[in-house]
Amino acid sequence: MNNLSQPPVSGTELNQVLVHTPIYSLMAGVLTYSHTCQLPAGTLVRVPLGTRDVLGVVWNDKPAPSDGKALDQTKLRPITAVLDALPALSPHWRALVSFAASYYQRSVGEVALAALPPQLRDLSSIQLTRRLKKLAKAASHLDTDKKPPAEPAHSSNDTEKQALVNPPDAIYNVALTAEQSGAISQFNQYSGPFLLFGATGSGKTEVFMQCTAQLLASAPDAQVLVMVPEINLTPQLEDRFKSRFAGLHGEDAVVSMHSGMTPAQRLNSWLAAHSGAARIVLGTRMAVFASMPQLQLIIVDEEHDPSYKSHEGARYSARDLAIYRGHREGIKVMLGSATPSLESWYHSRPATEGGRYLRLNMPSRIGSGQLPLVRRVDMNHQPKRCIIAPPLLTAIAQRIERGEQSMLFLNRRGYAPVLECTDCGWKSTCPNCSAFRVFHKIDRTLRCHHCGFSERVPRACPECGNMDISTIGRGTERLEEHLTELLVDIRRPDGQAVRVVRIDADTTKLKGALESQLAQVHAGDVDVLVGTQMIAKGHDFRRITLVAAINPDNALFSSDFRAPERLFSLLMQAAGRAGRDAAVANKSEMWLQTQHPTHPLYESLKNHDYPAFAASQLNERQQAGMPPMSFQALVRADARTQEVAQEFLNLASQAAAQQDELSALLPHLTLYPAVPMTIARIANVERAQMLIESPSRAALQRFLAHWQDTLQHTRSRPECKGVLRWAIDVDPLSI
Ligand code: ADP
Ligand code: ZN
Ligand code: ZN
Repeated sequence: MNNLSQPPVSGTELNQVLVHTPIYSLMAGVLTYSHTCQLPAGTLVRVPLGTRDVLGVVWNDKPAPSDGKALDQTKLRPITAVLDALPALSPHWRALVSFAASYYQRSVGEVALAALPPQLRDLSSIQLTRRLKKLAKAASHLDTDKKPPAEPAHSSNDTEKQALVNPPDAIYNVALTAEQSGAISQFNQYSGPFLLFGATGSGKTEVFMQCTAQLLASAPDAQVLVMVPEINLTPQLEDRFKSRFAGLHGEDAVVSMHSGMTPAQRLNSWLAAHSGAARIVLGTRMAVFASMPQLQLIIVDEEHDPSYKSHEGARYSARDLAIYRGHREGIKVMLGSATPSLESWYHSRPATEGGRYLRLNMPSRIGSGQLPLVRRVDMNHQPKRCIIAPPLLTAIAQRIERGEQSMLFLNRRGYAPVLECTDCGWKSTCPNCSAFRVFHKIDRTLRCHHCGFSERVPRACPECGNMDISTIGRGTERLEEHLTELLVDIRRPDGQAVRVVRIDADTTKLKGALESQLAQVHAGDVDVLVGTQMIAKGHDFRRITLVAAINPDNALFSSDFRAPERLFSLLMQAAGRAGRDAAVANKSEMWLQTQHPTHPLYESLKNHDYPAFAASQLNERQQAGMPPMSFQALVRADARTQEVAQEFLNLASQAAAQQDELSALLPHLTLYPAVPMTIARIANVERAQMLIESPSRAALQRFLAHWQDTLQHTRSRPECKGVLRWAIDVDPLSI
């Protein structure tokens, strides 16, 4: 079609090419370029934009009808290169991108180009052809050389260590439990979407793999997308899929897609998915946009996890887009969780009550199967200012002496959150943010976790010179130190001293650090694991028999209505870490240190009763008219001063009443006044937000689409000088 060695002759055909221009308008990203022929929609091209050459996608099959003014043909610039080695992006893919852009109020160009690997821009058609050939070769090689399925290994006399190296997933014709078979047969019988509601350790992953295997077997080119919240936190899932399916469909049949990959790796995975060489794509939220021409199934593991929601650029929810994508492509979608989001739980109520998802229940844990005993320690009856209650300390010591492991978590890293002067009350606030800086003992710094501002700890109070400045509260670093002191006289069964290890964002900054720390835990070299909530997620710690939440109460009384939901799910997940190994399952415990032991949330947790918790939360949400019974959007504004940030939002809100399209929608909406964000200032930028709520998603969507222009206009008013930027967050997760 186009030979790259010769510069393309400027043709006469007009091609509509989508590029990334940062303008909030639907058509803004589609520009007209000339080419020798009309290229099919979905073709990837490179085009000049200003002084640069950028990646673009031919967006329409026909040029847009001219809007009155004739195009000046002589001013049109030609397409630089056509990446015709690549199949065109499918209409489904383009529809997904268009939908995401309009739903999340961003430009199509931004969403589309963010979903494509940046390296596509740098390779010539010839280089791409070469890469595709390589991928195709790997795939076809496999067809002629299909390995016979591995013999089912039996693990009865395997040592525990071997079982870890060779996870039982090598046995893929495992005898399913009745609950698993039930879930799979419903999956086969209905079209979904499905919510697989299964306790931790109930065998959800096995169900995912069985459903995947079935769909892959249904057609030689069928593809499956498996989404996980954070790939680094769920390496085990990746390993399990790889070890199960690489044997069946080849090493290259399973590819990953996440932000931790190099641009070259990302390009390779993308090409494998787009060309069909990859049968399974395993990825984080960005993978929802993977181009997979033969996609047959989407799985969303831990669907409640907040990391499925993007918090920059287009603030999309990958879980919600997965549902849209499945619907649009007519394929099945399966969400899975032990503590579903209240949205998905609500959508999976019985169809007779309006539910749209089919709920598949797997309440029982596999094997000896007991969930840990939940114990609440009433901190009102413990020694004042104690960090670890004496009974908890005793329980930890007993575990160490028995050679078992404990895990303690706390939602705060650092040594102690704040330094305070005992004399004048000075606190270690950040000069740039409305937040406190946290004391990090290891390098004796005060560091702001929001803007990164860091300074050596002052010797004396900067306000009054008092030498007695001390810490208030506690962080993981201090907990680690404190615990080591408390356990100094305790001995492991081998007579050695206790080993305490801390895992949090500070200890895992270096590449590979998390993996090596986790390996230490798995190998049994660690007696007590201390960390932030990052250790409570996903990991399969077999010998942990005690999990303790040191200070979970904060979330009970948060201004964010989703805080209890997140706390419950975190605690359930953390509890699920305990007693995964059959040998220790029945003595595992989860401890909660709380000032509110009778709180209903802890009551439901004690009974491992997510449905009871969800019912009470949904009841509260219903009465307050909050999601999932209503729909929300947040408009956030950054400005030099808080007044201007709020003024801008309030003016835009008032302007809505003056416009016909918008004012007609106002009866269906509530526009709240602008307020400062919880952390009102970060890095010297003031932040305000305004909440918009409606019982009708459609009304909210129509309003936002029209309101964009109003916001643009408002910003240029003199009162709004100093507004730096604004952004809309549809279906925000934190308020
Ligand atoms: P979940 O994803 O629900 O937490 P998993 O799928 O990880 O649960 O299953 C928990 C454990 O049980 C894993 O070690 C898994 O290999 C094992 N398992 C899953 N299904 C079966 C089965 N049908 N029979 C025996 N073991 C199983
Ligand atoms: Zn002071
Ligand atoms: Zn700061």
